[in-house]
Amino acid sequence: MDAEKKARMLLEAFSDDAGGRQVASAANQRVTEKVAAQWEAAGCLVSRQEFPCFRWQRHDMRLCSGDRLFSAHISPYSHACRLKTPLVRASSTQELRRMDGAGRIVLLDGELTRHQLMPKRFPFFQDAMHQEITNLLEGRGFAAVVAATGRDPYMAGGVYPFPLIEDGDFLLPSAYLTSEEGEELAQEVGKTVELTIDTERIHAVAANVVGSWGDRGGGKKIVVCAHMDTKLDTPGALDNAAGLVVLCLLADKLQGYSGPPCVELVAFNGEEHYAVPGQVTYLERHGKDLSAILLALNVDGPGYQGRASAYSVYQWPEDWSEIFADTIASHGSSVMGENWYQGDHMMFVQQGVPALAVTSEPIEEMLAVAHTVRDTVEQVCPERLVQVAACLHDLILTLAG
Ligand SMILES: [Zn+2]
Repeated sequence: MDAEKKARMLLEAFSDDAGGRQVASAANQRVTEKVAAQWEAAGCLVSRQEFPCFRWQRHDMRLCSGDRLFSAHISPYSHACRLKTPLVRASSTQELRRMDGAGRIVLLDGELTRHQLMPKRFPFFQDAMHQEITNLLEGRGFAAVVAATGRDPYMAGGVYPFPLIEDGDFLLPSAYLTSEEGEELAQEVGKTVELTIDTERIHAVAANVVGSWGDRGGGKKIVVCAHMDTKLDTPGALDNAAGLVVLCLLADKLQGYSGPPCVELVAFNGEEHYAVPGQVTYLERHGKDLSAILLALNVDGPGYQGRASAYSVYQWPEDWSEIFADTIASHGSSVMGENWYQGDHMMFVQQGVPALAVTSEPIEEMLAVAHTVRDTVEQVCPERLVQVAACLHDLILTLAG
């Protein structure tokens, strides 16, 4: 099959569930198997790195005060609750510090809800201010949190409102609503409100898929990765079925490759998850020999329709600069992009490994689509994915040579 046709077919196959591929969901398990099958067919050695987790299921919710019903959403991974208790409001950290939760529901807005809170146990980065807010919410006896939010493109993509809390380790039930709806709800402060959140957690196992060419034999390797999972309620075509397609096209091109260096493809499971379980599992398994990684290439959000592919490098050795510039220049619609620090390349960069990230320009436009229901296959140009795979293949062969 011709590469562009295959790219289109895989893109549709990987993003066939509008509900998303969040870790351990049925769609997530299907995409894991599809990727493994593609790589096996291309002749590489495929393994799965399994880890325990839970599948989160969301059912109904209801937020009301007397006869007044409010339009709100359940925060991803929230615990369930059935509450009838007074509502209080906090708009700043100072206010929160002075409050006693006393079993009440707290409405958060203002500076407290400008950015999504970093998950409590996110391993690669923490924010002292976010940690304090989380500690105050959990430690002051509140029964639940309702957050009025706007937009936060870098942390939450293009969704409005965004969930302030997206953290399976957070101890309280939580919900979120638009800032307009939050203003309405604020009029009920002091009154008794009802909040029902119906969710469940089911123990599950999920996995990264790892495929490799060439015998390591203690030698160096090049890692090429893309994440498989998505946020909730998005088909995740651009973010990041498109990246998986690039890895599959690259696998086809690598047929017969024997190295050195070894080339390892990794489909990570957890980039959009509060605890990045796939990435943590990978580091646990490979932590000791990260120094064997010559280079890590991360593909996330490539092929945005009508836009150029953006390549950025991190800790790139001086003598590779020319190779990089020449390779990018020799492939159509490719530019050197600005650095971005949210993707899976950063876990390698933090360990001192040179990295390259591929996405689409301009990042702001792409972020407006990412994580939303609008992230459908129409956003992605299959031809561009073929170009990215060819460019990465060239780069690998040049560096290997
Ligand atoms: Zn992504």
